[in-house]
Amino acid sequence: MHVQWTDLGSLLTSPLGVFWFVLGTFFGSFFNVCIYRIPLKIFWKNKRSHCPACNALIPFWYNIPLVSWLVLRGRAACCGASISVRYPLVELLSGLLFVTIYHCFPFVLGWQGHLQLDPANFLRFMHAIVFVSLLLICSFIDLQYMIIPDVISLPMIAVTPLVVYLHPDLDWKSALFGILLGGGLFYAVAWLYFLLRREAGLGMGDVKLLAAIGGWLGYQSIITTIFWGSLLGSFVGLGLIVFKGKMSLKTRLPFGPFLSLAAILYLLWGHQLSDMMIAF
Ligand SMILES: [Zn+2]
Repeated sequence: MHVQWTDLGSLLTSPLGVFWFVLGTFFGSFFNVCIYRIPLKIFWKNKRSHCPACNALIPFWYNIPLVSWLVLRGRAACCGASISVRYPLVELLSGLLFVTIYHCFPFVLGWQGHLQLDPANFLRFMHAIVFVSLLLICSFIDLQYMIIPDVISLPMIAVTPLVVYLHPDLDWKSALFGILLGGGLFYAVAWLYFLLRREAGLGMGDVKLLAAIGGWLGYQSIITTIFWGSLLGSFVGLGLIVFKGKMSLKTRLPFGPFLSLAAILYLLWGHQLSDMMIAF
């Protein structure tokens, strides 16, 4: 018997939903460490967290996801330096994403003396958790530094055979074609853009990210991801120009977060998205 969650709201307020949310926020706390350390290339150095402003050691009770930031009201306990709203935002997003991913791939069938699991959904769930987590980290690094780190995108492409081997639905042809289509198509668009405007609009980071998305989700994901990623990016870009007047048409907006968002939407609600695209 399957435990069915009719809607996300009822899952969120159930003990299982709260479990995934809280676990997600703790992972989000770790993602914050990745977002901070990977671009500075200090990921493997000094294991404990230090205040970036005054270098004081941060005790663990100030590292509780969401709670600490709210209690401290966004100010460091050591020196009063303001803590970026990115920290609670990433933790909140991770919590919500973990619940949503479980909602899409519920794998706990029930309890009959021991835990009963749906193995196929468990694999889909794990695949989605890893995929979404890596894209979340890439997106926030891209927002801040306008780069998508090779240390994430290239290993993602490299482990595609393992992903295909473990995933119940993905086949190797679809994944291989996905890498080629994602990387190739985007590379072609980047070239075209360069030829037309004589400047690099799309980075090679985006090309590698899209190749990784193609490998992990199959080639069917690529057109939808580019379509929705471009659409979302254009809306946000236009919104920034209209409401803030901050940007000109030449200002660069990182593309990684929009591609990531579109890929995550495809992974979780793929069929509906494709139908919507056809309706456009
Ligand atoms: Zn400090």
